[in-house]
Amino acid sequence: MTDKAKKIKSGSNLLRFKIEGMDCPDCASTIEKNLLSANGVSNISVDFMSGNLEVSGDEPSATEIEKKVKSMGYRIASRPWENSVQLTGNRVRGGAIFPVWKIWSLAISTLLILSGGTLSYYDLNLLISRPLILSGMIVGGWQIAYKGLMAARRLRLDMNFLMAVAVIGAAIIGEWSEAGAVVILFALAQLLESFSLQRSRKAIGRLMDLSPRSATVLKDGQMLTVAVDEISTGDIVFARPGEKIAVDGNILKGNSSVNQATITGESLPVDKGPGDVVFAGTINCEGAIEVETTHAPGDTTLDHIIRLVEEAQTKRAPSQNFVDKFSAYYTPAVVGIAILLAIIPPLALNAAWTEWIYRALALLVISCPCALVISTPVTIVSALANAARNGVLIKGGAFLENACTVPAMAFDKTGTITTGKSAVDNVVALDGYDHDELLKIAASVETHSEHPIAKAILRYADAKGISYGPPTNFKSVPGQGAIADLDGQKYYLGNRALFSSLGLIDAGVDTALKESGNQSSTAVLVGSSSNVMGLLTLADELRPDSVEAIDRLRKEGIKHIVLLTGDNRFTAESVGGLVGADEIHAELLPQEKADTVRKLGAQFGGVIMVGDGVNDAPALASATIGIAMGAIGSDAALETADIALMADELKKLPWLLRLSRKARRIIIQNITISIIVKFIFVILASAGAATLWMAVFADMGISLLVIFNGMRTLRID
Ligand code: ADP
Ligand code: MG
Repeated sequence: MTDKAKKIKSGSNLLRFKIEGMDCPDCASTIEKNLLSANGVSNISVDFMSGNLEVSGDEPSATEIEKKVKSMGYRIASRPWENSVQLTGNRVRGGAIFPVWKIWSLAISTLLILSGGTLSYYDLNLLISRPLILSGMIVGGWQIAYKGLMAARRLRLDMNFLMAVAVIGAAIIGEWSEAGAVVILFALAQLLESFSLQRSRKAIGRLMDLSPRSATVLKDGQMLTVAVDEISTGDIVFARPGEKIAVDGNILKGNSSVNQATITGESLPVDKGPGDVVFAGTINCEGAIEVETTHAPGDTTLDHIIRLVEEAQTKRAPSQNFVDKFSAYYTPAVVGIAILLAIIPPLALNAAWTEWIYRALALLVISCPCALVISTPVTIVSALANAARNGVLIKGGAFLENACTVPAMAFDKTGTITTGKSAVDNVVALDGYDHDELLKIAASVETHSEHPIAKAILRYADAKGISYGPPTNFKSVPGQGAIADLDGQKYYLGNRALFSSLGLIDAGVDTALKESGNQSSTAVLVGSSSNVMGLLTLADELRPDSVEAIDRLRKEGIKHIVLLTGDNRFTAESVGGLVGADEIHAELLPQEKADTVRKLGAQFGGVIMVGDGVNDAPALASATIGIAMGAIGSDAALETADIALMADELKKLPWLLRLSRKARRIIIQNITISIIVKFIFVILASAGAATLWMAVFADMGISLLVIFNGMRTLRID
């Protein structure tokens, strides 16, 4: 296949690969820097944790990229034109495969070096022992040396290069056994690191494995088993009881309950019947259902989640920036000290060259910031994966790290604190208008509206057997109501503010508003351009977990709870009172909500906004962190929020804060431990109290420690 054909097949000027053999975040930046010199490439991103490589530009060539990656000593695990899916590009399933040859080469090199070391220890034949150690070093270390050389050619002091210099230097000054020990320990360290990293890397891979690879499709009355990638929208997919649903779609036939835990983290299955929406990767429990595909594979909710989680991994968290800055000074500084140490004492004080060169080599080993660099991404990736499994999609390490430090939280009312599934409980016709006529107008205007109030009105009209028709010129007035034409006549539906702007509120309307419902009901006025014809009241219920969730949030450190709503003041105050809000803002238009959020942020030094993601988008965007509820099935909510709760469960908020606090604590621990141990060893090595192998051992020890510590965020009660 020609390069051009590959490019076209793999989508618009974006190539994705999976790289194997990256043992340290250092390697990722070496690859990044190196690939930038490829033709027609403008942007490279290499993610160390997932192994994902993304190349974009006018005309990147897959062959050239592959060649470059290989020449640096890494492997490409999957190529862009294999198993490609449109839109989201090819999905690389599963975690990286663990290379068995690494274990073999380590075993052989250990054997060679140990036997050589034993021989030389007993002063037996140096002619045999040295070649034995040397061949062991080559078997176990050629890869390290090669990668290091490649990095050095780009003028980068990467870990592999520093190790190679240390090993070769030790051999030159005659410390053969030491040099051999460093090779074994370093190779072992890398092996153990990639072993332990597998687990947090696989956490994302598991998410991808949720969606089945084949499905049963109904075509012309026949059941065909096809690969999921071949299904297109409109196809009818059959799901047997106990089977995983393969596509996003609407149920055409059959009733069942669906376990959506894989996406939402909800433990209880949800009952579903004809007309209801189901999602790829969820499990169909007891009934057989026929599903009409609405989203092509590659574009399902699960695909969006996977893509967002992968993107989130590659976004840098604040602590990572700190680590990067620190390493940028640390490594050159220690290397500088090492050079001075090797030269000055022998020249100035006439000290032994070998002794000081040895100390300098130990410093080179210590100058690798590996444990430090690894400490943050492991923690963040593990936490993001844990969150995703629990139906909480966090779109970047920064939000995870910062969530627990924000002091104030603002909530939207309808659909967030309340269920938003309000029911009409009273219809009042004014000025001699007919009750059923009023309901018919209301239902007709709302036919195409997505608002929860509209849905409630339609349900009520259906239940009363009122027939209504679709309107013309439907226009929604966000935060106020809706306008539409029926039989050439303009009708209005909405809150008092809407009618007040029309100049239609008089004493009679206000009296009717006051008498119509109790304090916690929402009133919707119905009218034409000349007068108010009547009103409907709707009762909305608090979510069962609202009060408890807000109590828990306070225990997690939220100091100020604010309620924001477009609804009337009475309702807002009654709901706010029930959950114990500190501050209530009512009758806000969407833009005013956003302004209020901005003010709160300035006042408290940060605010988290929790909303429903659809008409709260501006407010979510102006918050320090915007959290959307019930994001399953709502692409808008998934895209606009910083954090999306798949299910409508407020109790996930305190859970999120706990995860955030745990991750933050672990990151701080990891960074502190790595820096302290490094500094201790810099001093020990300079003083001649640390051997080379001790330095490698310490480095490996802390690396493993921070990895295991970081992986604790995979679990949280
Ligand atoms: P909240 O801020 O509580 O989520 P919204 O901003 O969605 O509420 O709406 C605010 C108010 O505007 C509602 O309480 C209702 O009175 C009115 N409203 C908005 N959209 C509609 C609609 N489609 N039909 C009737 N009333 C509406
Ligand atoms: Mg709302």
